Amino acid sequence: MATTITITGAGGQIGYALLFRIAAGDMLGHGEKVRLRLLEIPQGLKGAEGAALELQDGAFDLLESVEVTDDAATGFDGCNVALLVGARPRGPGMERGDLLAANAGIFGPQGRAIADRAASDVRVTVVGNPANTNALIAAASADGVPADRFSALTRLDENRARAQLAAVLDAPVASIRRVPIWGNHSATQFPDVTHATVEGRPVLDALAERVGDVRTWLEGTFIPRVAKRGAEIIEVRGSSSVASAANATIEHTRDWVAGTSDWTSAGVVSRGEYGVPEGLVSSFPVRSVDGQWQIVEGLELDEWARGRIDASVAELVDERDTVRALGVL
Ligand code: NDP
Repeated sequence: MATTITITGAGGQIGYALLFRIAAGDMLGHGEKVRLRLLEIPQGLKGAEGAALELQDGAFDLLESVEVTDDAATGFDGCNVALLVGARPRGPGMERGDLLAANAGIFGPQGRAIADRAASDVRVTVVGNPANTNALIAAASADGVPADRFSALTRLDENRARAQLAAVLDAPVASIRRVPIWGNHSATQFPDVTHATVEGRPVLDALAERVGDVRTWLEGTFIPRVAKRGAEIIEVRGSSSVASAANATIEHTRDWVAGTSDWTSAGVVSRGEYGVPEGLVSSFPVRSVDGQWQIVEGLELDEWARGRIDASVAELVDERDTVRALGVL
């Protein structure tokens, strides 16, 4: 049996960076056949159709079929894994409320189509921004699908944080562990090094030897660098990060399906853990066990960390309230 994977916004940049790696087996493993469904809006269809031709020319052993559609019911029919990448970008003069409303008009119907048509084991990774609240809208619209089948991508933020620590500590990135992202995938996110280790040793100790006052460095250099890395990439590259976002999407989804041996980060529906209001999609330190995200509980948080998390969660509450006021939730 092949796994059916639906990618929305498949004709866009991240879609293009995702498709070939999925077809090559990077997401679900090199023994798993895949069927790809590329879901687009009518204006994006040509991009998706072009990508489908190139997928054909890749002659991937694992790729059983590729279908391109602008119909959500067809796109999500029998889908086991959905990657919701397509989203409405913020246009000139657009307020945050307008952005949330536009995306509610995309993620609400997609949630309903997933409920109606997807396979019973469906897992949905939301990438399109504002990812946390888009995931909340999709989950709330998907009657009968457990909310824990929806999660939002914060793995790119975690990867960026680990890479920054590796650089300053002059250590291999693989040796940097336990750097969770808390809260929203936005400038308020909190990349947390409290429990992080480098080659098994506390990162806080290693940082103290390198950067002087650690709190000053975290607040003034590390957190802004991680949170604003997207803008830095745009400035240098001339367009937004694409391959790293696709890579993080693949790692997030692979870990969700295959499990993790240690912590990672994902935006998941809160059940009130760490005082995050129930029902919000917030990023937490998580493990993946038996195909389910589990929040790592019982971590000590000092007042500073608590304040940072509370500020990001307050932004999520505000986004939820805006969407509620639109009558979406
Ligand atoms: P991208 O493929 O570059 O980005 C897609 C989404 O991913 C955006 O919301 C973007 O957010 C988000 N994203 C998340 N993390 C990152 C990151 N680190 N760097 C950059 N983006 C990130 O956009 P394109 O415009 O190339 O493609 C979007 C496609 O989606 C288009 O083909 C469009 O037609 C389609 N679309 C499909 C819909 C549907 O299927 N119903 C609905 C709307 C659009 P941000 O905007 O903040 O950068």
